[in-house]
Amino acid sequence: MRNAHLTSTVLTVILTAGFAFSAIAQRQTNEAASRKERVLFFVAHPDDTIACAGTMFLMKDRFELHVGVLTHGERGLGEKGYRDGSTKATRTKEEEAAAAMVGATVHWFDEIDGDAYPNRDVCRRVADLLLELKPRAIVAMWPLDFHQDHAMSSACIQKAIGLVGMREVIEFYFMEESYDSRTFMPAYTVDVTEVMEQKRAFIRQHVSQNTGDRMCALEMFDAEMRAQRCATFNVLGSARSKCVERFAQWDGKPQGSRCIFSELPPPKGWKQDWSMAKPSVWTPEGGMK
Ligand SMILES: [Zn+2]
Repeated sequence: MRNAHLTSTVLTVILTAGFAFSAIAQRQTNEAASRKERVLFFVAHPDDTIACAGTMFLMKDRFELHVGVLTHGERGLGEKGYRDGSTKATRTKEEEAAAAMVGATVHWFDEIDGDAYPNRDVCRRVADLLLELKPRAIVAMWPLDFHQDHAMSSACIQKAIGLVGMREVIEFYFMEESYDSRTFMPAYTVDVTEVMEQKRAFIRQHVSQNTGDRMCALEMFDAEMRAQRCATFNVLGSARSKCVERFAQWDGKPQGSRCIFSELPPPKGWKQDWSMAKPSVWTPEGGMK
């Protein structure tokens, strides 16, 4: 009898454990299925994402957003603020506040503003982040840029992508930085008219860089000028757009038909089908279509 009781107890324990494990496995499967796909924006300085803030607002409910920042922008207020650490503290806080507006998580890489390099250590740390996040898409800075840190950040993320062998499996895009991106070749134009005010508020989180609201005014002026050019050439199929952001694509990447920009919600009031982010408005080979 004792043996029979022992056997039944062991069986009960095994069955209970089995159910528990299967419940955990099911929950993990459900969580994985319901988890939003991730998009990583990778930039050099705390305020660089202002170039694509409107797009981030349009994306925030559809994707899980992450921002990788190569430096803390510690020289953004001169050498004194760099040496005493005050600028680093200020700009870190500003970036975290801006990212919170779009629900993005910030990842810091602690290179030095004005002295950033895509060195082996930092590229490996960025590669580790890619392995952890497994993003569906990455949006980096355009490689040819007036500011060397921007170009270095672009080299860094490209190297990291190569290190983890993700070149063929992710969507990889470049953002257009106002005034700094050189010979930019846009492939996607995103209308951010509906979120213009949020974009303004996002820029204004960077208080230390926005003396007299100058950075906000310049950035919005540039975004609005781009929209006017789009309207002139009928790029978006309508002259209603007041503010746009543009993105390039890693030429030749075999990503099939998937594109994060084509999955954004259409702006209110648009009668036509979603076509704000139609690809190949411009082509690297042929200029404007
Ligand atoms: Zn910058």
